[in-house]
Amino acid sequence: MLSQVVELIESKRRFAITSHIRPDGDSLGSSLGLYWLLRALDKETEVIMRDPVPHAYQKLPGSELVRVTPRVDRDYDAVFVIECSDVTRPGLEALDEQFVVNIDHHSTTALFGQINWIDSTASAVGEMVYNLCKAIGVRVTREIAECVYTALVTDTGSFHYANTSERTFKVASELVRAGVKPAKVSQAVFANYPWSKIELLGEVLATVRRDPSGRVAWLAQTLEMQERTGASDEDGDGFVNYPMSCGDVEACAFFKETAPGSYRVSLRSKCDVNVARIAERFGGGGHRNAAGCTFRGSWEEAEATLVSQLVAAVEHRANGGGPTGPLNPQDVVAAKESREAEQRGARSPRP
Ligand code: 5GP
Ligand code: MN
Repeated sequence: MLSQVVELIESKRRFAITSHIRPDGDSLGSSLGLYWLLRALDKETEVIMRDPVPHAYQKLPGSELVRVTPRVDRDYDAVFVIECSDVTRPGLEALDEQFVVNIDHHSTTALFGQINWIDSTASAVGEMVYNLCKAIGVRVTREIAECVYTALVTDTGSFHYANTSERTFKVASELVRAGVKPAKVSQAVFANYPWSKIELLGEVLATVRRDPSGRVAWLAQTLEMQERTGASDEDGDGFVNYPMSCGDVEACAFFKETAPGSYRVSLRSKCDVNVARIAERFGGGGHRNAAGCTFRGSWEEAEATLVSQLVAAVEHRANGGGPTGPLNPQDVVAAKESREAEQRGARSPRP
């Protein structure tokens, strides 16, 4: 909890901060926000990540200081692990030999740290870093504010998602007061893409399909598309949101082929449709309305399995099943069979 984190920071001096593989706006913004907080207290601190900083976050203060390493190769008094569901999510060898502080806003996180500070009411871990500044008495500098604001604006989908609360706006307002220029952050994060992303988007959007009810949509990106457009691994980020902008669509899956027979799956939903529970069945996780997992198998298996689960989740909710009731396996099979009948002869996303 927060008081244990404050006590630890006050009594120790050598820290590392890390987050999950393929870091996003909240993981990087919160990690770097915490970095500047610890630096303000004259602590020896570094941010270590398995994967490099994506293009969209390279303007964050301190992003050039992130050390990319596959292994925790130094000794620290403690390692802060930001928004990770378990101790393997950072993808760092030897992390479990360290004193680990788990800081997260996902309610599904395992309590894998020696200290666990979990606040599922926070819109982003960034909001928790802001609260830590207040609790420990560190002034919110422009660096801290820019990092934390980036975490907030990305994890709330620019203040669009259901996790946006009165407190989110209150913190955002304080951050603007501390020197953040919202337009500058949004320009760096959302309007700074390479052209390859636009070309890739054209190919991926051409694969979009929906189920007969029109409430479930899905789209796919193949390795060939990525090669043809010269796109980077991160260029497909956010594509899952396009079908969600249709009023009828309640759930969407984006399948990204990362190796032959391996798909990164991004799931999104509206309202009570819980996609985290679907992702968890495949070893992934996330939030009710935004989750992800990795699927190993053929394209046909990936599509049939995940789409039928989404259809079942949407039907379950539409039939008054409520947000938390278990999925009936027979419904999953029935939905899959009816979908297969409808989709027979469906073309694969391969062009
Ligand atoms: P995205 O679709 O943007 O990759 O991920 C959406 C959300 O799901 C994020 O909150 C992310 O942390 C979570 N998520 C994505 N993939 C995984 C995964 O493999 N494991 C877990 N535990 N969470 C994931
Ligand atoms: Mn987050």
